[in-house]
Amino acid sequence: MHEFDFAAPDSLQQAVELLGRADGEAHALAGGTDLIPQIKENRRRPSLVVDIKKIPELNVLSYDAAGLRIGAAVSCTRIAEFDAVKQHYPALAEACALVGSYQIQNRAALGGNICNAAPSADAVPPVLSYAGRLLLAGPNGQRELAAETFFTGPGQTVLARGEVLVAIQLPPPPANSGAAYLRFIPREEMDIAVAGVGSFVQLSADGQRCQQARISLASVAPTPVRADEAEAFVAGKPLDAATIAEAGELAARAARPISDVRGSAAYRRELVKVLTRRTLQTALDRARRSA
Ligand SMILES: Cc1cc2nc3c(=O)[nH]c(=O)nc-3n(C[C@H](O)[C@H](O)[C@H](O)COP(=O)(O)OP(=O)(O)OC[C@H]3O[C@@H](n4cnc5c(N)ncnc54)[C@H](O)[C@@H]3O)c2cc1C
Repeated sequence: MHEFDFAAPDSLQQAVELLGRADGEAHALAGGTDLIPQIKENRRRPSLVVDIKKIPELNVLSYDAAGLRIGAAVSCTRIAEFDAVKQHYPALAEACALVGSYQIQNRAALGGNICNAAPSADAVPPVLSYAGRLLLAGPNGQRELAAETFFTGPGQTVLARGEVLVAIQLPPPPANSGAAYLRFIPREEMDIAVAGVGSFVQLSADGQRCQQARISLASVAPTPVRADEAEAFVAGKPLDAATIAEAGELAARAARPISDVRGSAAYRRELVKVLTRRTLQTALDRARRSA
């Protein structure tokens, strides 16, 4: 295995300084479930790895009037088992409970899932569909951005040198809203999504119409994407079977999939249709129950 220096600071400032002034490639380490295999396989050759798990801000998990705040080093297990997540953000709980196995979920952080920027990352569509925002800290201070603007390509993000993801912030879910995440893999678990869809819907006060929807797709484009056309189509309409079916068709148009060993582009588009229909229906049912 390639040799590298290792540090485990307990302050955010130290971590940013270390990562910012390192010679060559430097990486933050959360759970290491992506990074360590990548180093072992020589796909990453860092001169420095900075463990961020001892930094207090990165371990926060709280829910209040401002919504849900998840420190970037909080594990998928902690998130999936947090009562407020189970109650108010079920799509995120569903996705975190799908990442790898129990052992992987105990190590893997949501922040790592986001920063690794795999198009197939399961926890990303719910973050986009819940209108998540990312708080970054770097040598030039802090900045906040909409999660969907973070990804620039497979494994590529807007993170600048020395910059780390500090936290993920999800707004409080509005009244009459619900969400769901589903992915397709050819076996029961421990596989990479062939396609994944996260859907969020908010119903009008009388529950009769969809006020707004956010539909996010994984594994069908170089980055996670929103299905804008499908979202615009369902807004203002009753979410009946015909509307949901058409939303599936439109969501498939937002996909720009590749063909690979996991599935052809056409198969992936078909999956997007089905998963969009199913997640919209579950989101609708949950929104009705939340009223
Ligand atoms: C057996 C196995 C099964 C898996 N199954 C799934 C699955 O079903 N679904 C899925 O989505 N993923 C899966 N993964 C991938 C992986 O577990 C997840 O992407 C996980 O969430 C990564 O989190 P981590 O904390 O381990 O990240 P790490 O490996 O620590 O980091 C990943 C990348 O993000 C960077 N990084 C991490 N935190 C920060 C930060 N705060 N600021 C800046 N950069 C940061 C690191 O430098 C690195 O480049 C699997 C992996 C394995 C080994």
